[in-house]
Amino acid sequence: MSVSPPSSGSLERRPASWYRDSIAVALGPCPPLAGEVRADVCVIGGGVTGCSAALHLAERGYSVVLLEASEIGHGASGRSGGQILPGLGTDIATVERALGLSAAQDIWAMSREAVALTAELIGRHAIPCDLAWGYLHAAVKPRHVSELKAFRDRLARDYGYEALTWLEGDALRERVVTDAYPGALHESEAGHLHPLNYTLGLARAARDAGARLHEGSPALDIQRGAPHRVMTPEGSVTADFVVLGTNAFQHRLVPELEGRVMRAANYIVATEPLSAERAARVLPRNDALSDANFVLDYYRLSGDRRLVYGGEVSYTGREPRGLQARMDAKIARLFPILRGVAIDYRWGGEVAITLNRAPDFGRVGQTLYYAQGYSGHGMALAGLAGRLMAEAIAGQSERFDAFAAMPHRRFPGGERLRTPLLVLATSFYKLRDRL
Ligand SMILES: Cc1cc2nc3c(=O)[nH]c(=O)nc-3n(C[C@H](O)[C@H](O)[C@H](O)COP(=O)(O)OP(=O)(O)OC[C@H]3O[C@@H](n4cnc5c(N)ncnc54)[C@H](O)[C@@H]3O)c2cc1C
Repeated sequence: MSVSPPSSGSLERRPASWYRDSIAVALGPCPPLAGEVRADVCVIGGGVTGCSAALHLAERGYSVVLLEASEIGHGASGRSGGQILPGLGTDIATVERALGLSAAQDIWAMSREAVALTAELIGRHAIPCDLAWGYLHAAVKPRHVSELKAFRDRLARDYGYEALTWLEGDALRERVVTDAYPGALHESEAGHLHPLNYTLGLARAARDAGARLHEGSPALDIQRGAPHRVMTPEGSVTADFVVLGTNAFQHRLVPELEGRVMRAANYIVATEPLSAERAARVLPRNDALSDANFVLDYYRLSGDRRLVYGGEVSYTGREPRGLQARMDAKIARLFPILRGVAIDYRWGGEVAITLNRAPDFGRVGQTLYYAQGYSGHGMALAGLAGRLMAEAIAGQSERFDAFAAMPHRRFPGGERLRTPLLVLATSFYKLRDRL
């Protein structure tokens, strides 16, 4: 199974996945853009970033055209683990070191807003996406225990965040029925959902608010100016503002962003549906879980009680050899009761990683906005990014600028050099995960 970027040719369908087979939001046709159109804002990319931006802009009265190269939710948003988490892809201490405590506190508060916003949007737009609360950060090694406790203490002391509770022994087994973890932090303000239905629900809400959505419409070029002109195979959008929500696939459109994110594929399997009794012997309270390794594994139960289990990385876009067997073995080791359970689905998606793993928000010039590089931690933040870009375009840019102040370095070298460097770095962390 390969993970490919959207093509510039005919409409590329979403990859086969359990998500695709359980779509519950009827979006209706979004025909390719044909001819020349005018809008206040052209949004490029139909993931959570783009759909949220389109929704929030349309709600503010802007005319919006959204271009999606393939289908809405074709990218990471329609394939992800579906975990909805406060915080960033990097430790908040990284933000503190770069920007100081007060700015880091603002960013942390906004990351909590991102989670609340997700729930609010689901409620307000009646999006059927199986939102559930509860999340475990599980220690795998003894050193993780002290690291996780220090994380909880720092968040309580400096950020007033009290949603983390340390669990071990029987208290932990009430939430995850395995002996694999010496302990875990339970987080009540985090949860999980069906990411493709959530993305489609946002798109539907954006359209209801007046945004025009076009699938099969890759932006091929942005002719910069005032206004900009975004070219697609059969048309163009002339717009005062451009919002880029293409995450792992932007750099060819905007050369200034070259090297700021690195793509890596991540993989998920979904088992057959489990009986209620069996599911209760895996995750009795329906929490999601990630382990504390740098190259982490994560899992949760779906709305129809499948175990949706993710992990493993690839930098070639091609599935690592023996992936299925390794995933099977991991599941059986954690939960012997699931030995031999059928795997119904397996799919992969592209994560966009920044060098420091903090998300990369900013502008090129005054009127081209971007939000990318969530580093595997974007399901909630991407929704907030859309809100913040709409706020900034409407003239209130303080909150967007708070994120944009985060310094980012480029990955050295071009794409060909960048990949081996990231492989090296990740191999180092994989080794460290074993210690
Ligand atoms: C396997 C996997 C598991 C993950 N698990 C989690 C998780 O559990 N929790 C979490 O918080 N995060 C997770 N993530 C990360 C999260 O999914 C992303 O951070 C988030 O979805 C990014 O949203 P986005 O809208 O910015 O990008 P995307 O969803 O990737 O959307 C970008 C869209 O832009 C389109 N596009 C690209 N180029 C063009 C163009 N030229 N013209 C028009 N359209 C274009 C693409 O087709 C795509 O639909 C995971 C990611 C993956 C891949």
